[in-house]
Parts: sequence; C-alpha cells; structure tokens
Amino acid sequence: MKKVYNGNKEEVVALKEINLEIEKGEIYGIIGYSGAGKSTLIRLINMLEEPTEGEIWVDGRQMNRLSQKELRKARQEVGMIFQHFNLLWSRTVFENIAFPLEIAGVPKEEINQRVNELIDLVGLTERANAYPSELSGGQKQRVGIARALANRPKVLLSDEATSALDPKTTDSILELLQEINRKMGITIILITHEMHVIQKICHKVAVIDQGEIVEEGPVLEVFTHP
Ligand code: ADP
Ligand code: ADP
Repeated sequence: MKKVYNGNKEEVVALKEINLEIEKGEIYGIIGYSGAGKSTLIRLINMLEEPTEGEIWVDGRQMNRLSQKELRKARQEVGMIFQHFNLLWSRTVFENIAFPLEIAGVPKEEINQRVNELIDLVGLTERANAYPSELSGGQKQRVGIARALANRPKVLLSDEATSALDPKTTDSILELLQEINRKMGITIILITHEMHVIQKICHKVAVIDQGEIVEEGPVLEVFTHP
C-alpha cells in the first residue's frame, strides 16, 4: 500500500510501497528513525488515515472498505497505547479504564467486573482510585494498557509506548506486554526507534526508512548478519 499526504503546498510520500503481513499472535516490531513513516503506518492500520493506494486487512476484514458504522466496530478490534499515555486527568485509574466501555454501552455490572480484572492484570490493584497525577510513568502506562484492552481487541498497537520511561520501567512494561501476548494471544504491533525494545520482546521486525521497508524478518536474522 501507499500513503501520500496532500498538504496545501506539496505532496509528502510518507509510505512508498509497503507490503507487510503480520501473523496472528505475533509480537511484531517496526523500527525506524523519526520521519520514517512509522506513525503513518499505525494510523493506517487503525484507519485514522486512508491509504492512497492499496488495501489494509485486520482479522479478515478489509478496513478501508467499511461503512462508518462497521468501522466503529472494527476499530474496537484494535487497542492502542501511546508515548504520553493520553489518560483523562480528572478521572481515576478505574474510571479511565471504564471509559471506552461506557462509550461502547457495556452494562454497568459488566464494566465493574472487566475493569477490576484488568486492574489486577496490570498490577494496579492498590491504585484503582488514584488519579493519574498520583502515579509514576510506568503506572500511567499500565493504566493505558488496561484501557487499550478493555474492549477485548485482537490487536494491540503500541506507538513508542516506552519512549518516555526509564530503562528499568521500560523493561517491566515490555514484560507486561509479553505476558498479555502469551496469556491472551493478542497480536502486538510495536513501533519504536529503540533497538533494545525490539530485541527484548519482538518475534519479527520490519526496518522502515523513508517510507520503505528496507529489511524484514525474524529479529535474530535481521539483527545478526554483518
Ligand atoms: P515517524 O512516525 O516514523 O516519525 P511519520 O509517519 O510521522 O514518521 O511521518 C512520515 C512522513 O510523513 C514525514 O515526512 C512527515 O513529515 C510526513 N507526515 C506525517 N503526517 C503528516 C500529515 N498529516 N500531513 C503531511 N505530512 C505528514
Ligand atoms: P507526559 O509524560 O506527556 O507529560 P502526562 O501523564 O503528564 O504525560 O499527561 C498525559 C496527558 O494528560 C497529556 O496528553 C497531557 O497533555 C494531559 N495533561 C497533563 N496535565 C494535565 C492537567 N493538569 N489537566 C488536564 N490534562 C493534563
């Protein structure tokens, strides 16, 4: 697929000819320098942007062929976590995680049950009623992860989710993602500019440079040849 942004002055070819297949259950890393096209790729997978050419499939659905209503439903299959967490500041941990479920119209009792399970899963049982400002960076990202899982997505997209964290906290968040992948079988697509992140948990990797995939394959193969 291809993505060209039409600015008011000139066209920017953000992605040239990207052809990428990610298997169910994989932790798939996408690494590249700033401006390489990583965020564009994520926004295409999540259908926040439309491809200029080509097709995007998620779990047997062609995402760029759906009606608005189908799209809203399909987007629930894709959870997303962010570098700066994007939490709601005036809501507690519990309320942040409950938020996407309220929007989806899930009954209150089910919300309570699901949110409490998620809070336990990410290790924040003691902090359920804390506000984001009372949490460490790692704890904030744990809330972000729980919120992303609330609607039981098939795919979790991580956009530089550990880039604002120190190395030790980064490792603990990566271990949590690994556990989620193993326990729940969720496919994880992880965008980063840090080699360490890829080497720690990814099965496969694509190296993206100036809108093109320049290398792709199992992490050990891509990063060990001369
Ligand atoms: P990365 O996430 O790897 O830093 P991006 O996907 O953000 O890369 O950007 C890829 C290219 O597309 C860059 O040249 C960037 O300036 C351009 N770009 C990104 N978003 C837009 C936009 N909304 N309008 C115009 N150009 C954009
Ligand atoms: P960061 O590491 O990016 O500062 P924060 O957890 O501090 O992340 O902020 C998360 C989000 O909440 C950001 O989008 C930020 O703009 C927003 N935010 C930060 N402080 C406040 C505040 N006092 N009131 C409302 N929103 C805030």
